[in-house]
Order: sequence, then structure tokens, then C-alpha cells
Amino acid sequence: MPYRSPAADILFSLSAVAGFKGMIGQGLMGDLDWDAVTSIVEEAGRFATEEIAPLNRAGDLAGARFENGVVRTADGFAGVYKRWAEAGWNGVSAPAEFGGMGLPHLVNVACTEIWNGASMAFALCPLLTEGAIGALKAHGSRELVDIYLAPMIAGKWTGTMNLTEPQAGSDLNAVRTRAERAEDGSYRLFGQKIFITYGEHDMAENIVHLVLARLPGAPPGTRGLSLFLSPKFLVNADRSLGPRNDLRCAGIEHKLGIHASPTCVMVYGDNGGARAWIIGEENRGLAAMFVMMNAARLAVGTQGVAIADRAYQQALAYSRERRQGRGPKGEGMAPIVEHADVQRMLMTMKASVHAARGICHLTGAALDLAAHAGAESERAAAADRAALLTPIAKAFSTDIGDEAASLGVQVHGGMGYVEETGAAQHMRDSRIAAIYEGANGIHAIDLVQRKLPLAGGETVRREIAFIREVAGAVRERGSARFGLTADRLSEAAGALEGTTRAMLDWLRTDQNSALAGASLYLRLFGLALGGACLAKAGLAAEALAAEGDESEIGRAGLARFFAEKLAVVAPGLARAIASGGAPLEPYEAIIGSSA
Ligand SMILES: Cc1cc2nc3c(=O)[nH]c(=O)nc-3n(C[C@H](O)[C@H](O)[C@H](O)COP(=O)(O)OP(=O)(O)OC[C@H]3O[C@@H](n4cnc5c(N)ncnc54)[C@H](O)[C@@H]3O)c2cc1C
Repeated sequence: MPYRSPAADILFSLSAVAGFKGMIGQGLMGDLDWDAVTSIVEEAGRFATEEIAPLNRAGDLAGARFENGVVRTADGFAGVYKRWAEAGWNGVSAPAEFGGMGLPHLVNVACTEIWNGASMAFALCPLLTEGAIGALKAHGSRELVDIYLAPMIAGKWTGTMNLTEPQAGSDLNAVRTRAERAEDGSYRLFGQKIFITYGEHDMAENIVHLVLARLPGAPPGTRGLSLFLSPKFLVNADRSLGPRNDLRCAGIEHKLGIHASPTCVMVYGDNGGARAWIIGEENRGLAAMFVMMNAARLAVGTQGVAIADRAYQQALAYSRERRQGRGPKGEGMAPIVEHADVQRMLMTMKASVHAARGICHLTGAALDLAAHAGAESERAAAADRAALLTPIAKAFSTDIGDEAASLGVQVHGGMGYVEETGAAQHMRDSRIAAIYEGANGIHAIDLVQRKLPLAGGETVRREIAFIREVAGAVRERGSARFGLTADRLSEAAGALEGTTRAMLDWLRTDQNSALAGASLYLRLFGLALGGACLAKAGLAAEALAAEGDESEIGRAGLARFFAEKLAVVAPGLARAIASGGAPLEPYEAIIGSSA
């Protein structure tokens, strides 16, 4: 089943859910107009469909190969990457002064979904480069910015993120990679990093590694980490490429999915130390790395949306062709799409895609408003909203990616379990997104411990008020197509509100109960907010219908399905969270007895 770009759905969500058209209309985005946004997103869709999507299956089969210290990407990857970069796609939201397009985050979120829908393994390389560009721009010295930013934005040099070590995954306190000061003001790195995405490859002229490491005498834990830039090839004074740096790829992993994306073991400092330059201040590396991590978290959430949508496209096409059993009309074998349970699966996939996409778009809009809103207070509130929504965008959307990809296999029946159909690849590829860029459980903890208390709890209260406002607007609209959407959405908002209060109390009195409920709480938040996103899209569709345009009218029904069949579990989740950590105790007796 060929990939179809969801450009039209993305544009509808940008406008109706994220309010992007309104932001442009208010002049917040400079001289950007909606027609330009439409052309860019549609053109991204064309490039992805024609050039990137054909790499997906071939890349899965061939994978990246490690030969004598060199990583060879699958056939076609290097050529498509070169054309993609030459067309300027690597710099969509990068600063114009360094050759980027300088476009808002929301345009980049839209394009990121399209690249990842076409081939997640391909799109991972620029995803990391984009994060590295952000960290370098925000915290790099003028000299580093001048040397590295333009070629990275042009896509000639790619970027990596080196956090993980064998003993340091979720817990970066345990990072051991060592940095030493050199006499010329630069540094030398020694150590090993694992799981480094595109740490070595043959698609670009140079690879710029951003590496977390520890200086001698640094405080223990993450407060003693510094961030360094260490290129594969050293750069000469005239900006040409010099000799190899003292770093190498020692091997690549054999993985469940994203076979075409090399996941590298990187070794620094075999021969006197890898030359490196500090980004930001000594021992303040995590703050600098967070710029990269936050960008990557929203992008990984978008991967979840992308792969779920791709799985949905494929399942829908199959369900129209495959005939089994009598349909409701009772004549002969019917296409399986006519069976109510298959419709349930397809609608669950579609509604989940649109809900998660809406949340990612709200997050992107908050980032744009944080940069461009008129008043300082609005910019600060938007920055807090982006911080609150980022863990939800990452974890809820990547869980959706997994669930939708698994449903996609189920719709295919036995053929879904057979590799040739491609449904299984989506399931294998999507699985990593809930693990990397911070495992989803860690994001749930971040949401509860760090984001709920933002602005004294005002940020989360505003979000709940937003969900209630949308439910009220649906009730006021009074369209039968919404069914019980307003009621279910109000119940979900109520469940979220009560649970949020409990969480804020537990943060003071009973940390373990807060941590035990964090993932369920994130799910509840995603369902309530996702329901509001779908309802907003439904309201926009109803407004169009009132003007005589019924082309989008299915969106109200989609919002109804999500509210009545999926978000309806919100009060149950609230009850599960309410029992706190108690049911886990004594955990050894419960989970340890039969192992
Ligand atoms: C294909 C792939 C690509 C990757 N790319 C990169 C990359 O480019 N750069 C990079 O630096 N890293 C990368 N990683 C590493 C990735 O970010 C880590 O695997 C991830 O952060 C989880 O760490 P871990 O594997 O050590 O799991 P662990 O930290 O061991 O976690 C295992 C489980 O325990 C849970 N857990 C851990 N600590 C806690 C806690 N305190 N409270 C509650 N639950 C907890 C986790 O949620 C998880 O479910 C990649 C990994 C893979 C597989």
C-alpha cells in the first residue's frame, strides 16, 4: 500500500485545533501567510510520497551495515537524503541568518510528521540534527555557531545526541564519559556511548556529536555534566574538513525495527582524546542538552502520530479489499470493513491519530506563541504550556503509535503477521518511540513532578479550563452528530481535575502514590485533551457545514467516537489513580512470589 501524505488533515488540524491560521491572521508570524503554509506542507507531502516512502520497505529489508568501522546505509538513502537537504528541508524552522527558512515550529511539526510517515528510519537522522542545531544556537559560543551551524542547517553535516552509556540510560547521574581541559581552551573526551542514532553513516560529509561528559572534580550526578561538541572530521581554519578526530563507531545494534537507522556504539579517545569544544558552561551541560531533548521529544511524539497514520492508511485499504463473512446486508462475502468490529478498530486508529496529532499541534503552537506572542505574560504562559504538554505529546502519541500499529496488524488478520504486507514493519518500527528520548514512564514522572506545579498549578488549571470550554462549545452547538461528546468530555475534564488535585497533594505528602499513578494520569490527560482536540476539529467542521460545505462533516462523528468509546474510560482511570501506591504493596509478595 503506497504512502499517502496526510497534508490535508494536518492543515485542518493546524488551523482548527492549534489556531495557526488565526495566529498568522493576527500578524504574529511576520509576513507568513496561510497559502505559503499550505504549499510547503503539500510540497513536503509530494517529496515524501515520491522520494522517501519508496525507501521504507527496502531499508527495512537491507538495514544499515557495519563494515570495517564504516556504516553503510541502505541503497538509496544517501541519494534521497542529498536531494532532500538540497531542497532546503533540513532548515524548515532553522534561523534564516544561517540559511534556514526561519518558519514557525508548527510548520516543522507538520513536515516532521510527513517525513516520519514516509520512513521513520530515514527521518531519524534529520530529527537528531535539528535538535543539535537548536542546542548549538541557544548555548554555543559565537565561534562554534559560525563554524557549525550553516553546514548543519544545510544538511551537509548531521548531528547526534550522545547521552546513553551502558550504566546510564534513564538515569544520567551515572554518566562516566570523561572530559579533560586542553591547553588551547578546547577539551578531550574519553569514554563509550551506546545506542547513538546515526552516530556513523555515509549520508553526510561530517557528523557533529553532542556529548555529555564529566570534567575532573565536577560535582556528582547531573549537576556535574557538561555538554561538548566533537566532530567526526576536525574543521580547518578555512572551514574545509581536516583529519579524523579520535572517535569511532565500534559497531551497530541488531534491532526489532527501524533497521535502516544505524544505532551505534561510539568510542571516544582511543588515541589521546577526542577533540571537543564546550557548549554553554562547564557543569551546566544538561540545561544545554535540554534544548535538544525538548525539540526531540515533540518530534518523537510526532513519530508516533506518523506511524499510527501510516498503519491506519494501510489497514483501511486492506479492509476494503479483503472479503470474509456476511456483511450487514447479508449477501455473499463482504469486505471486512463492513463488519462492526473492524469499523471499531479502524475508527480507534483514526480517532487516536487525530487526537495525538492535535496534542502535538497544541504543543507546537505553544512554542510559537512563547516566541512570538505580543505580551511578555502571554509568552511566559505559552512557554509553561509547552513545558506541560511536551511529555504528553511525547508519551501519549508514541503509545498511540504502538496501539494503532498493533491494531493495523489485527485488521490484516494472519496477513498482518506476515512481513510482506508491511503492517508488521509499522509495529516493529513504532515500538522504539515509547522507549527512546526518555522512556514513557519517565515522561509521566516529569509531567507529575515537574510540570503540574508550574506557575503554582495555574498552567494545568488553564489546560483543564480549555477542555471544559471546548465541551461547553460542543453542548452549545447542539448538533446531533456530536452525540454524548459534551457529556463525556466534561466527565473526562472532571476526572482530570480531581486527579490533578490529588497528585498535587501527594507531591507534598505521599510521593510514592504520585509516582504509582503517573503513567495512568498521563493517559487520562491525553484522553481528555485529545478529546478536546477532536471536538474542536468537529466544531470547525460543523461551522463549515452551516455555510453549506459538508466535506468535513465526518469530524464531528470522529470526535463522538473518541469521546464515547475511548475517553469514556477517564473516570475509571481516575479511580485507578485514586488508590495510590497501596495496591502495589507488598510488591515483593505480589510480583516476586512466582518468578
Ligand atoms: C534504537 C535506539 C536509538 C536510541 N538513540 C539514542 C540516541 O541517539 N542518543 C542517546 O543518547 N540514546 C539513545 N537511545 C537510548 C535511549 O534513550 C534509552 O534506551 C532510554 O532512555 C531508556 O534507557 P535504558 O534503555 O537504559 O532503560 P532503563 O533506564 O534501564 O529503563 C528500563 C525501564 O525502567 C523504567 N525506569 C527506569 N528508571 C525509572 C525510574 N526512576 N522510575 C520509574 N521507572 C523507571 C523505564 O521507564 C523503563 O521502562 C536509543 C535507544 C535505542 C534502542
